[in-house]
Amino acid sequence: MQVRRDVRLADLTTLAVGGPIERLIEVTDAEELVAAVRDADEAGRPLLLLGGGSNVVAPDEGWPGDVVAVRSRGVERTGGDLTVQAGEPWDDLVAYTVEHGLAGMEALSGIPGSTGATPIQNVGAYGQEVAQTITAVQVYDRAEKVERRLLPAECGFDYRDSRLKREPGRFVVLEVTFALHPGSRSRPVGYAELARTLGVEVGETAPLADVRDAVLELRRGKGMVWDPADPDSRSAGSFFTNPIVSAARAVEGCPSWPAGDGQVKLSAAWLVQHAGFGRGTRQGNVGTSSRHSLALTTEPGATAAELLQFADRVIEAVRDQFGVTLVPEPTAVRP
Ligand SMILES: Cc1cc2nc3c(=O)[nH]c(=O)nc-3n(C[C@H](O)[C@H](O)[C@H](O)COP(=O)(O)OP(=O)(O)OC[C@H]3O[C@@H](n4cnc5c(N)ncnc54)[C@H](O)[C@@H]3O)c2cc1C
Repeated sequence: MQVRRDVRLADLTTLAVGGPIERLIEVTDAEELVAAVRDADEAGRPLLLLGGGSNVVAPDEGWPGDVVAVRSRGVERTGGDLTVQAGEPWDDLVAYTVEHGLAGMEALSGIPGSTGATPIQNVGAYGQEVAQTITAVQVYDRAEKVERRLLPAECGFDYRDSRLKREPGRFVVLEVTFALHPGSRSRPVGYAELARTLGVEVGETAPLADVRDAVLELRRGKGMVWDPADPDSRSAGSFFTNPIVSAARAVEGCPSWPAGDGQVKLSAAWLVQHAGFGRGTRQGNVGTSSRHSLALTTEPGATAAELLQFADRVIEAVRDQFGVTLVPEPTAVRP
């Protein structure tokens, strides 16, 4: 366990905003992670957990307590089941599954961050989400002060949401177990743009490596693979979730997908763009990415306050024009 006092949140997050940290504690296994959390809780020090820092807007005033950076590593395989330590980088895990002929997460290639953060917002992209393969999440429950194994029904997974997100700060993810499908071909491709790129129909399969390559190519084209050399990836990915509304309130011209129960999921990217915030709309040091209107990006010198103010302008414009309220996807951290 390493403790440092010379670090800013901006150094630990892909949006590169956020002030100084009182104590940064880097933990390298689950035992150290639980010990660091218990220690902060017992001493009454504010606690912030960070994996890859790719889904947080960190506060400009910094963090007046402990930031625990989860760097635990390890993947255990039993047949098609993988039990993965929380700090394992997500995309390394996806690459491992593709290389070893395990299907179920290939369409989630290129998403930054840690494996332990994936159940929090039920990470998803290109027709897959982690809820489809997660069979258990081992957590430390800060409310009950015990370790627990949460089964999928107890995780309350939903679109970019889960019980772990709805009860913020309660559950510390220690490891995640996935059940994957041994074989060299992907799960049925569930996203039209990906199917087109692969030259297959939606619902058909393709070689696992081809799916990974196609997803990475599509994501790079949109600045959605984190790369310090690509200013369009200085973001938290999509800044807003796709809003779900009753079919009667669908917006004319806006792409939508059935969402069950007489509801539709609207394209947040379309709404943002048509509310006057097309690609490359800038204000000060923040704005929309030049390759994707749904990603808000920062430039050196940006602040969290500036970014959140810009996000509020987008929300207001979409509400005024289309009567739909966008919900931010990243966590806006508050001490
Ligand atoms: C370029 C780019 C593209 C992206 N594309 C996608 C995408 O396609 N789909 C998608 O769903 N997301 C996407 N994201 C968002 C992000 O990568 C994911 O949400 C990712 O899972 C966050 O992981 P992280 O380790 O960086 O989490 P962090 O940002 O470090 O943390 C996110 C939240 O989880 C909490 N947390 C982190 N680790 C733990 C733990 N072990 N236990 C309990 N709580 C924890 C944090 O306190 C925080 O509230 C993208 C981000 C970027 C920058």
